[in-house]
Amino acid sequence: MIGQIIDGKAVAARLRAEVAGSARELRGRGIAPTLAVVLVGDDPASAVYVRNKTKAAREAEVDVRDHALPASATQAELAALVDALNRDPVVDGILVQLPLPAHLDADAVIRAIDPAKDVDGLHPLNLGLLAQGRPAFAPCTPKGCMRLLGEVGAELAGARAVVIGRSVLVGKPIALLLANANATVTMCHSKTRDLAGEVRRADIVVAAVGRPELVAGDWIREGAIVLDVGINRTAEGKLVGDVEFAAAVQRARAITPVPGGVGPMTIACLLENTIEAARGRRHHALGPPPGGR
Ligand code: NAP
Repeated sequence: MIGQIIDGKAVAARLRAEVAGSARELRGRGIAPTLAVVLVGDDPASAVYVRNKTKAAREAEVDVRDHALPASATQAELAALVDALNRDPVVDGILVQLPLPAHLDADAVIRAIDPAKDVDGLHPLNLGLLAQGRPAFAPCTPKGCMRLLGEVGAELAGARAVVIGRSVLVGKPIALLLANANATVTMCHSKTRDLAGEVRRADIVVAAVGRPELVAGDWIREGAIVLDVGINRTAEGKLVGDVEFAAAVQRARAITPVPGGVGPMTIACLLENTIEAARGRRHHALGPPPGGR
């Protein structure tokens, strides 16, 4: 069996078009959804991410306010900027691009963001709500993974899901979202004794590690669905995921490629969260939609 290759680019493009429709609807009611993006320092990869986010937001008719601070910025300067954005009534979502320069405390910055504007979904309150099964903003990459599972018609209730990686940014929130959707979830990490054995039992595999082709293709159960979150550059400069794609696609029912799988979903979900933030924060300013309810 050759599995379906899940076209994350196409799904993300559709989601961004939905966001643009929602943004237009909000604008028609006098509200311009607005995302503030904070970039500290001159890390080239972060600068590319921020440029891509800004471009995608503008295309989806979401206003963007870019804030760049020098690499020498202090914790107090960054805190003052976040505080100003929290208070700015025009700003619906705040994204602080990670990683921050080493001298800055990223956890403290995330804790300082107004949870109602935390479109990255990383504030402890939002992660706590996710753990309680009533997420406000789910982190963007995990949310994108769930959307892709929906796209391929994955039956989640009762499914055995194995998530490899337990970071706060990716692995843990994916595991929570899957458990909230009634999957039976196993979270694997660097101390897992028999990773191959865990993966072999899985109906759904999510790999979020950052190790090129750690997951051998022959570990994949026939008919499993595989989401590969990992982004790794080989010595030859090629981008590969955490899963040995060429072999895994022979066994999976559906699988995401790298690049072009999970990656494009992250920005689309960030924009979707920004629309939700605009609606949530300004619901009192919103009358009934045009044409009534
Ligand atoms: P991270 O914080 O470094 O976490 C990696 C996780 O993998 C940890 O939980 C670690 O276990 C686990 N791990 C490491 N070696 C392992 C092994 N041999 N077997 C099993 N588990 C192992 O990374 P992250 O931020 O979650 O990102 C993971 C990957 O996703 C990276 O490649 C990153 O570039 C990519 N990513 C992609 C997107 C996107 O597509 N938009 C977004 C975010 C991240 P311990 O906890 O035991 O150390």
